[in-house]
Parts: sequence; C-alpha cells; structure tokens
Amino acid sequence: MNDSSNCGCIFCKITAGEIPSKKVFEDDKIIAFHDIKPMAPVHVLCVPKIHIDSLDDIKSENIGYVSHIFEKIPEIAKTLGISGGYRVVTNIGENGGQSVKHLHFHILGGKKLPLTLG
Ligand code: 5GP
Ligand code: ZN
Repeated sequence: MNDSSNCGCIFCKITAGEIPSKKVFEDDKIIAFHDIKPMAPVHVLCVPKIHIDSLDDIKSENIGYVSHIFEKIPEIAKTLGISGGYRVVTNIGENGGQSVKHLHFHILGGKKLPLTLG
C-alpha cells in the first residue's frame, strides 16, 4: 500500500513526499534518503515505494522491489563516495531491532565499521 492518507507509516509519508527527507536517490520503485539519526558518517536508508512490513513479507509478487534496491545500492554508494567499503543491513521484527515497520535497508559507511553485529 502506498496511500499514506490511510496509513500511519512514516516511510509511506516520506515516499509520498508528505514528510521531507534528505534524498540521495529516487526512481519509480524506490527512494534513498539520509537517516535522521545517523549511526555512521554516512547512513542512508533505501526504501521501496510500496508498503511492505519487513523482509519477512517478501513474496514472488514484491521481490522485484528488493532486487531493484540491491541493483541500485552500489550506484548509490558510489554517489555517496563510500564504494571503498560499506555495510547493508535490514532489521526484522522486535528482536531484530526494527523500529519502523516498513521494509528498509540501511547503507552505512564513511569509516571502518565495528565488527559487532549481534
Ligand atoms: P530500524 O530501527 O527500523 O531498522 O531503522 C529505522 C531508521 O529510521 C532509524 O535509523 C531511524 O533513525 C530512522 N528514522 C526514523 N524516522 C525517520 C524520519 O522521519 N526520517 C528519517 N530520515 N529517518 C528516520
Ligand atoms: Zn509504509
């Protein structure tokens, strides 16, 4: 769903342009913008323009959004100047640390990242 008038989802509002964001990339399927609370010198979120709760909800009908995001991430990383190395993360559910229930991929870089992941 991408009708943010009926949806309280903050990322639906951002993809609809109802809430401003510092955009770094946009096309018909996805949007990438700087995280409001960066956890690395470069911290960008890559978000599909349809509402999908999390990676748990990927099926054959919406996998195209994920493959498109992964096709575009290296391009986005290049424009951000972090192609020397970066990390891509998606959090799933409460134990995974997901705070916004709209699928998104964190792109983190701009320094040598710590190896603590779990
Ligand atoms: P999660 O914890 O769900 O994996 O990541 C959600 C991310 O969204 C967090 O890093 C948080 O800082 C970011 N975030 C939450 N609300 C907003 C917002 O309104 N604008 C932007 N740019 N980032 C947001
Ligand atoms: Zn949403």
